[in-house]
Amino acid sequence: MPLLVLKFGGTSVGSCEKIIKVAKLIKKYHDKKNKVIVVSSAMTGVTNDLDRKSKSISEKFEKSEYDVLVSAGEQIACSLLAGSLIKLGLKSRSWLSWQIPILTDGKYASSRIKKINTKDVLSFVNKGGIPVITGFQGISIEKRITTLGRGGSDASAIAIAKFFNADSCIIYTDVDGVYTTDPRVNSKAKKIDKISYEEMLEMASLGATVMQPSSIQDAMLNNIKIDIRSTFSKNPGTKITDEISATNKKIITGISYTKNEAKITVVGVRDQPGVASEIFKPLKDINLDMIVQTSSADGGETDITFTIKKEDIKRVINLLKKNKKISYEKIIHDDKVSKVSVVGAGMITQPGVAQKFFKALAKEKINIMVISTSEIKISVIIDQKHINRAVKVLHKEFDLE
Ligand code: ASP
Ligand code: MG
Repeated sequence: MPLLVLKFGGTSVGSCEKIIKVAKLIKKYHDKKNKVIVVSSAMTGVTNDLDRKSKSISEKFEKSEYDVLVSAGEQIACSLLAGSLIKLGLKSRSWLSWQIPILTDGKYASSRIKKINTKDVLSFVNKGGIPVITGFQGISIEKRITTLGRGGSDASAIAIAKFFNADSCIIYTDVDGVYTTDPRVNSKAKKIDKISYEEMLEMASLGATVMQPSSIQDAMLNNIKIDIRSTFSKNPGTKITDEISATNKKIITGISYTKNEAKITVVGVRDQPGVASEIFKPLKDINLDMIVQTSSADGGETDITFTIKKEDIKRVINLLKKNKKISYEKIIHDDKVSKVSVVGAGMITQPGVAQKFFKALAKEKINIMVISTSEIKISVIIDQKHINRAVKVLHKEFDLE
């Protein structure tokens, strides 16, 4: 009998009516002679609400208590779901992560799963039971409750699939898969049937919000088959596999964008060993994205530009100004920028993609501020007011409609 991990996101379990629907869906898998392990996140809005509550006590709410608080939503969803399965005549129970246990290490609010004890859950499954496991949470070696970062129930599902050696992990969400670009920005966006882990990782990191990026990385490293499907429609979803888009003859798989970028340039730093290291040393807790240094023609001075999340801009500028180890002429910043990226494994073998990308933006008179590339993606920073237009022209240019 195949063992499946079924993960349900917040909107899928967003109300009691929806939870009852989800229970019926799970029953179908069970009736078709699958072994099933269910992972659920909190009902939509609950985690946000708990997060707000912590802030109304203190902006610096104690981190260990924060994790106890925000992980509570998963407990509610899992008991409601297990209760619904029992009502349908199935054998089911909820499992909070400390009861299994799901062991984590790392910091509060961004812990990583290290080990999962499979014994009790597996024996329950083997007796025909359907365990419903809380996503997003774990327990540390000090026996404190931890969480895996927002959106972390994807990471739970992937880790559970890995430790239980599942045949496949199905991520149920409110969209029926991954699209060539955001359907809210471009109505011509098309669903992607198959995507490689690498492409999916880039798409998710670059703005597609279907799955938490670090969970995709974990799936890739452990070769876990993932299916993304909608809880509310019967449409086939998107498969993430290690075969390079067999059905997808296109060079580019999709276009992603993010709107919450900010760009900082440190102008006129000395061009000598150790300078970049000193600039970034105080920024080690900041999520840095693109980093570009222009090479100085005369070996004298250079500029370093990097991008960060918009919400970090004040902090970063303060840290730069406080840094007495560096000298520079001035700091320029801009928080009205966006990043647009084209992603596709086909780029590896096909030259000319960058030129096509730049030409499409040039035709629209959209100025490119920063460029960065990897083997399978090209990203640029542009003025945020052009982002929707850029997404549309690129989608067309690369034949995605
Ligand atoms: N409930 C958590 C959150 O809202 C985890 C998840 O949904 O994946 O971030
Ligand atoms: Mg979620």
